[in-house]
Amino acid sequence: MTSQKGIPQSVIDEIRERADIVSVVSDHVILKRSGANFSGLCPFHNEKSPSFSVHPVKRIFHCFGCGVGGDVFGFLMRIQNLSFPAALEKVATQVGIDLAPYRGKGSDIDFVRAHDLLREARKFFRRQLGGAPAARDYLAKRGLTAATLEEFQIGWAADDWRLLSQHLRQAGYSEEEMTAYGLARKGKESGVYDYFRARVVFPIEDDYGKPVGFGGRVLGDGQPKYLNSPESALYAKGRLLFNLHRASKAVPAEGPDAGTLLLVEGYMDAIGLYQHGFRNVVATLGTALTESQVKKLAKFAKRLVFAYDPDQAGVKATLRALPLLESSGLSLSMLQLPAGIDPDEYVRTEGAEAMRERVTNGQPVEAFLFEATRDRHPNWRTPDGKRAALRDMIHVFRLLPSPLSQQNFIERVADAFGISEELVRKSMSNVPEREAAMSAAVAATRPAVLSPLVQAERTLVHCYMSEISAYRKAEDELRVAEFKDPYCKRILQLLGELGQESGDVSGALISVCEDEELRRFITAELMVRPPMAEGGLGETLADCSRELRKYRLEARKRELQRLVASDGAGDEVLREFKQVTEELQSLLKSLDGAMSSLPQAR
Ligand SMILES: [Zn+2]
Repeated sequence: MTSQKGIPQSVIDEIRERADIVSVVSDHVILKRSGANFSGLCPFHNEKSPSFSVHPVKRIFHCFGCGVGGDVFGFLMRIQNLSFPAALEKVATQVGIDLAPYRGKGSDIDFVRAHDLLREARKFFRRQLGGAPAARDYLAKRGLTAATLEEFQIGWAADDWRLLSQHLRQAGYSEEEMTAYGLARKGKESGVYDYFRARVVFPIEDDYGKPVGFGGRVLGDGQPKYLNSPESALYAKGRLLFNLHRASKAVPAEGPDAGTLLLVEGYMDAIGLYQHGFRNVVATLGTALTESQVKKLAKFAKRLVFAYDPDQAGVKATLRALPLLESSGLSLSMLQLPAGIDPDEYVRTEGAEAMRERVTNGQPVEAFLFEATRDRHPNWRTPDGKRAALRDMIHVFRLLPSPLSQQNFIERVADAFGISEELVRKSMSNVPEREAAMSAAVAATRPAVLSPLVQAERTLVHCYMSEISAYRKAEDELRVAEFKDPYCKRILQLLGELGQESGDVSGALISVCEDEELRRFITAELMVRPPMAEGGLGETLADCSRELRKYRLEARKRELQRLVASDGAGDEVLREFKQVTEELQSLLKSLDGAMSSLPQAR
């Protein structure tokens, strides 16, 4: 993770400084404030209780479970598998710093240009819709208004193999760029051909409203009915939510639906609902709800309303989502619609008011799961049917994330089957010890006991990282070789290589540090140390220096004692022993003095 050639460290520092690491990490991890830090479940190793911390002021993250740590760039590199230049570029774009003036040649992803490419394609598709009466007809039949088509920039990919790619080439984009972002595919012989053909296209945007891909729907009976952009550096269906950038601003702040987001399974449903005033609607893009998506939703919403079909797929998707929602603090209810009617159809035929009522009075998730499971056993009233249904119920019960929802579920089962709650609970509660696993969490994170010498060294080095001018003053007399702690030695070397003369350099240090283990050490160190009080730095430094000196003298004294005890000690050794002893005594005296001059003993 070395700094990028051509881009000055000061610019990199500025980007890190401006970036909101908490919000960047929040795209992937549900963070809760705990003291000065934010903490959450580590995305880099499997854990049940949070040992992953983000420090908003120091702008670092560190996991006390698996040890990873770094700055905002390091986080993105790791979680999105980006190179340092790509991570830098990404954050720079977000914070509005243009790296173009510093950029040399290279194969790094140019996100600005990639978004421009997709924007150009979106514009082109949009224009094509004007000359495609069949497509306009189809959209009109689906009840979409001109305003909605404009808002969502819905377009048309003509029935042509080269129309878009030719246009993009003329606009200055290369074939590599078109294929990299899923607009074209490499032909068998040469050149490329358009990826979307003879389809209505729905632009898909990222959380900030920038175009990242498209969904295309055939007009007739062609296959596949829906075709989405292939995965690319911009388009990742497991992370994206259709319409999130609009919906996140439209979550009701008050009223019966305060904090509610609607989740549907396709962009057609989302657009239909949106047009009828449900702007707080998002859609998944052909995947079950992922953890990354739940994390995003949890930033904006308190309550999710799922519009899933009560079929087996819907039950599965709901059960999969439940633990994710539980751990993110989102509550869930289900949108209950007449059988076989999808949300878009319902809102068109029954109107917005009827829909709103159903959103507000969402079905409790336990009821949805219960009914869907029961209805898979049409003979559930017979003894055999009852037994089979109960077996399925046990399966569902075990996947319920909280005692409360388990209790709700049990009540329903008992009620419907005419069995006592106690009996239901007995038959279901042979549940694996989830709780035990949860509490057996991060016991191994407590640091090993350090010698007072190493503690003093680390405190000193910490002071230097937080104010490098202190290091500059002491630089020449530090005797780095005498440091016992290998981490401290290497940090001191790195400090010597930095160009800064003053200020906190911990961020810069992390980005120039190429050693993973050392970087982990630095972020851990920064995370656990309390912030340095402005005026306290001088005093802490003086304390540490004295202590270091004391420990070094003591260590030397012990060595000399050993030499004296063995026979071969000459006069020189004896002389040094005497000198060290005296020095130590006067140092201890001055330490005593320093102590007694303080208002209270430490
Ligand atoms: Zn971890």
